[in-house]
Amino acid sequence: MPELRQNFFSKEWVIIATERAKRPEELATHRAVQPIPAFVETCPFCQGNESKTPPEVMRLPANGSEPWAVRVIPNKFAALSSEAQPTRSLQHLRRRIDGFGFHEVIIDSPDHSKYMGLLPDAHVADILRAFKQRYNTLSLDQRIAHITLFKNHGSDAGASLQHPHSQLIATPVIPSQVRHRLFEALRHYDDVGECMFCHMVEREIEDQTRVVIKSEHFVAMEVFASATPFATHIFPLRHMASFGDISAPEIVDLARVLRTMLAKIYVGLENPDFNFTVRSGPAEYAGARHFHWYVSVIPRLTRVAGFELGSGMFINTVLPEAAAEFLRNVSVDKAVGAGAGV
Ligand SMILES: [Zn+2]
Ligand SMILES: [Zn+2]
Repeated sequence: MPELRQNFFSKEWVIIATERAKRPEELATHRAVQPIPAFVETCPFCQGNESKTPPEVMRLPANGSEPWAVRVIPNKFAALSSEAQPTRSLQHLRRRIDGFGFHEVIIDSPDHSKYMGLLPDAHVADILRAFKQRYNTLSLDQRIAHITLFKNHGSDAGASLQHPHSQLIATPVIPSQVRHRLFEALRHYDDVGECMFCHMVEREIEDQTRVVIKSEHFVAMEVFASATPFATHIFPLRHMASFGDISAPEIVDLARVLRTMLAKIYVGLENPDFNFTVRSGPAEYAGARHFHWYVSVIPRLTRVAGFELGSGMFINTVLPEAAAEFLRNVSVDKAVGAGAGV
């Protein structure tokens, strides 16, 4: 029987279409592996081409040493401008704000071919340190209301440059989807007196069926009411509303869990396009008891069709429990080399 499931956080319903169910491996891309060079002369993100990007915002290691591990630069084709001011205007019903904000690119590594899921854990930790540093620095700007950290991998996920990179967009407003989640989290806290994310994480760990990796500080799991196949959430076990509060040992642990999940998706589903995003409360939510940040990884294996556009409701043809079992069984030792085994 098909089943409707409700997302804990957004209250959105999805249809888990077991009648049309696919085995997880049926969604593998079956792409031919294309060798990718470590250096591309025309790529602005490759090592040696630093002069082709706008002046960098930061690099790690921070002492300016060569070679760098991670560079952060302003996006040359920024969606928002840090030169503008967030001046508001309202004319009849038309509300506008001048296009102020920050749009930065985090270049994952100097190597053009090193996809994040195949980098050493210590390098992924450097990327996360850059995330944290930029998140906390931009959060201090009183004009910024929300910061989204994300990665687009592959053209179906919106990536326009092949060199592995992540992005950050800081906006002068809280997006309505984020506002909705914050509102639902506050309502749950008011009703029950607890963080609904902490509660859900505890139950999921007890249940185990959707858990893929449980580490010292994090749990990676398939989403109970997943709108799309293989949607994965990674939650810190410690209650934290803002990503900016992640500790140094937690960064090291998250690097291992995130990199392992990306490697499992890379190996098991044959390098599908995907997005991941850090879903954090706004910076001033640091210390809030009702919200809890997490990482959301969404492989782009299916296309949005008319029903989804018309209703906002998704049909998922892969059982999240089957996806979790499939990912638990994908070995990534060979793909990543030493230190990768989970
Ligand atoms: Zn490159
Ligand atoms: Zn919590």
